[in-house]
Amino acid sequence: MKSSEEFPVTPAPVSGIPHPAAHPPYRGRLAPSPTGHLHLGHARTFWTAQQRARERGGTLVLRNEDMDALRFKLEFVSAMLEDLRWFGFTWQEGPDCGGPFGPYNQSERSQFYRSALDQLRSGGFIYPCTCSRKDIAAAARAPHAADDDEPIYPGTCRWKSEARSQKSGVGVPISDLRFPTSDLRFSWRFRVSDGESISFTDGCFGPQQFVAGKDFGDFVVWRHDDVPAYQLAVVVDDAAMQITEVVRGADLLKSTARQLLLYRALGLQAPAFFHCPLMTDEAGIRLAKRHDALSLRTLRTRGDIPVQLREQW
Ligand SMILES: [Zn+2]
Repeated sequence: MKSSEEFPVTPAPVSGIPHPAAHPPYRGRLAPSPTGHLHLGHARTFWTAQQRARERGGTLVLRNEDMDALRFKLEFVSAMLEDLRWFGFTWQEGPDCGGPFGPYNQSERSQFYRSALDQLRSGGFIYPCTCSRKDIAAAARAPHAADDDEPIYPGTCRWKSEARSQKSGVGVPISDLRFPTSDLRFSWRFRVSDGESISFTDGCFGPQQFVAGKDFGDFVVWRHDDVPAYQLAVVVDDAAMQITEVVRGADLLKSTARQLLLYRALGLQAPAFFHCPLMTDEAGIRLAKRHDALSLRTLRTRGDIPVQLREQW
């Protein structure tokens, strides 16, 4: 078991007076998915991201998280950009205006994700997993957490892969790997060190601590449908785009612990993190969980004024 002291410390959130000698220039990002239904809760988190970038004279990057190519259509992307502009967002780098760290559509960045996957594989950080969602739900050590988190992976394929790597396995390029047979689909899972404590200081919520194997288990970095998982794509992109602070919703606090493990495994510098409280309605129900959550598109169509919507926050 490793102590939290051994874990690389993430840089302190940039605060107050800019200090060019001590901090690289601030780079923040908005990373929406083009579902066509960005709602007010997303907008509030994005607004915080924009404010923090502006206050620090920084750069705001717009990254289009359109990894699910089948679900996302081009028309949704242009609708999303339109809605964001209508609400008052401006960005200096993005799919529409380019920039030095493009492409800014995740669907065009597969070579970055594949090379990270290769790196994780040759480092022995990941293993192939053939479990279905149903298998995992049935064997999970703990019941599905109340938040939207995944159940803790019971480790079924972890043991199989450990037995196999003792025989040969490790070091074989992905393209040569036939596991267990070439026609069976599998995902790649990151092996966590059970009991390791992962701590970081969140710019909004303060000190955070999660324990691997207890708060979260081995997690998927590459899906069985041959698409990088969110955790891997976001780490690879934030590092490649030199993001210095990630501003996002508090539902991703635990994912930050997972992502810190990926930063370490890939030898990348982690950014600072600032998680925003999630927007709830009068009954305390999270906006994202409500079917009638007002989308920016609906608000715009019915004639709402963005500055007035922001005044209600
Ligand atoms: Zn498995």
